[in-house]
Amino acid sequence: MKTEKSFFQTTFDELAVEFKQNGFPLYAAEQVYSWIYKHFILDVTAWTNVSKAVKAYLQENYSFDLPKVLWHGQSVDGTRKFLFGLQDGQSIETVLIPARERLTLCVSSQVGCAIGCRFCHTGTMGLKRNLEAWEVVGQLMAVAIMFNVKVTNVVYMGQGEPLHNFENMKQATLILMTHKGLALGQRKITLSTSGLVPQIERLSEFPPVNVAISLHAAHNNIRSELMPINKAYDLERLLKAIKGIPLKAHRFITYEYILIEGLNDRVEDAEALIELLDKKDSKVNIIPFNEYPASAFKRPSKEKTLWFQNLLNARGLVCTTRMTKGADILAACGQLKSEFEKLNVWNS
Ligand code: SAH
Ligand code: SF4
Repeated sequence: MKTEKSFFQTTFDELAVEFKQNGFPLYAAEQVYSWIYKHFILDVTAWTNVSKAVKAYLQENYSFDLPKVLWHGQSVDGTRKFLFGLQDGQSIETVLIPARERLTLCVSSQVGCAIGCRFCHTGTMGLKRNLEAWEVVGQLMAVAIMFNVKVTNVVYMGQGEPLHNFENMKQATLILMTHKGLALGQRKITLSTSGLVPQIERLSEFPPVNVAISLHAAHNNIRSELMPINKAYDLERLLKAIKGIPLKAHRFITYEYILIEGLNDRVEDAEALIELLDKKDSKVNIIPFNEYPASAFKRPSKEKTLWFQNLLNARGLVCTTRMTKGADILAACGQLKSEFEKLNVWNS
């Protein structure tokens, strides 16, 4: 029986071992990785320098299928949003964000999410399942092939909690970073987490990527109201776990802070943030709340956002504001999927 596995699930080292076991030379694994990840040519028959035996072996044992683009759209600001269909009928979202010389891809790590943050549209869906490593790498490959572009940065900020899917995200990260392939540097990948303390404590087992923490409040009562996970792992436990993350020289922990009108945008909130965070290795990234239909919160004005940002900067806490991208194509996390489900496109 033919037992196919996804090529996009396989690290270079695993492929090299398998090739060795089958009597193929190491350079053949390098050539294959290069055709796929550097030239984006998935058609084995088009590879000019690869032996017939290697091609036959790959065709027999591997699938080169990618998640299918069900819909994609471009915003007036250049952001592109993709809705991908998976083999079991589930769907996920991916966003491509061009900015100056960078091309950043925001990938999903799960179908839905179990954490249930009150401000997050994905959180309202619950968790359907983890993504396989190939479905994560596949989001990048499908976009790269579709537009023949090189993605320069990847952020794990789409649907899902990446640390809830630790092993698969680790495998995907190894593949994204492989020098023989996509060769994304460790500073080009950012993992964003809601603050799963046990997994943060295991980050030394993960490739050394940038870490962003979804903080959103510097008071436990406000954070617990926004994010149920704070009841399990409060700010004290979270900050203690963060201190244990192995940081390379000149590396920062980024703290994401959704600014919500009247909830966490007061002087005392800024004061508490300044108290809580270590100015030396922290950066705050303010995200003005992205409203969606029936959302319980309001986005603060531009002036208020700037005022809050300036307050932190004036006290020596490095702080920037991330402007919403692609609002006109429902780029806020989880929105597109919901709109599509309402339209029932899956069944048409
Ligand atoms: N689960 C991970 C990563 C995915 S969410 C996490 O929570 O960190 C990526 C970022 O989008 C998080 O910082 C999250 O808090 C933010 N986000 C979710 N819903 C949002 C909304 N409605 N407006 C602004 N940011 C939102
Ligand atoms: Fe999950 Fe992140 Fe959304 Fe919270 S913000 S529900 S952790 S995806």
